[in-house]
Amino acid sequence: MIKNKSKKKIRFQDEFESKVSDTIKRFRLFTKKDRILVACSGGKDSTAVLYILNKLGYNVQALTIDALIGNYTKQNLENLKKFCRQNKIKLHIISFRDEFGNSLCYIRQTLASKGIRLRSCTICGILKRYLINKAAKRLKADYVATGHNLDDEAQSVMMNLLRNNLEVGARIGPKTGVMKKESRKSFVQRVKPLYLCSEKDVKKYSMRMDFPVNYSPCPCRHDAYRNKVRKILDRLEKAGESEKRQGGGSQNIKFNIISSFIDIAPMLKDKYSGGIQRYCRICKEPSKGEECNTCKLLMVLRSKK
Ligand code: SF4
Ligand SMILES: [Zn+2]
Repeated sequence: MIKNKSKKKIRFQDEFESKVSDTIKRFRLFTKKDRILVACSGGKDSTAVLYILNKLGYNVQALTIDALIGNYTKQNLENLKKFCRQNKIKLHIISFRDEFGNSLCYIRQTLASKGIRLRSCTICGILKRYLINKAAKRLKADYVATGHNLDDEAQSVMMNLLRNNLEVGARIGPKTGVMKKESRKSFVQRVKPLYLCSEKDVKKYSMRMDFPVNYSPCPCRHDAYRNKVRKILDRLEKAGESEKRQGGGSQNIKFNIISSFIDIAPMLKDKYSGGIQRYCRICKEPSKGEECNTCKLLMVLRSKK
């Protein structure tokens, strides 16, 4: 009995790792010659990516951006340091305090006091993307690997549809961006090895591997629009599973969303791949307008009134 249980456990782990390896090959995410920087939060998803890529022999280093969200990020950082030490992986740490002078919560409150009311995740996403891209170029990474899983990606597809935001939708997928090769020098492409792995399976894998990670969600996540979409998709998937057990319904709703997206993604990428790459006049990072979103936020943050 015990033997059977541990065999099952090993089989799940092997299958999970093979799924990640197959995803890398199927979507041609990267090769063993590439330098991969894994953007880590210290949570289960990015830790699983870091561990598996390292185990499969890819050239990986870890990068974490500390947004200083109290004990949550403190604990995550400690866990990540321990994990990287144990697995002999180089870890780069960048802090919001060093880069922007303060924590995410302080930045959000200051912006709100100046009339810019944004969700924590919106601010955090803009500032982290900016820091990750800058660091990836400095460290000469060929790709930035993230821990986005199937659930995250199904939510992103739905969010972009609900917001009529197909142009942003065109940039998501297992390998992000719609830019031509020469433009990629300024933007290090993101890749998602967990693209076809469900959140449930990532959690199971992480627990079975006994990774030193915190499973509670970020305390700032409560107000995210994504949260609402997550709840709707979870409810639909659950309902689909129970209907299926009764002989009808549609199972694997999240997987179906992703499969449909994979089919239409080439058309979207084609449609939105034109245009000239622009750069922010202040920081020279890639930008849609004259100033990038980070510089716009920083200008408000540092303004006197
Ligand atoms: S949940 Fe939102 S606020 Fe928390 S770390 Fe993620 S993006 Fe930042
Ligand atoms: Zn800028």
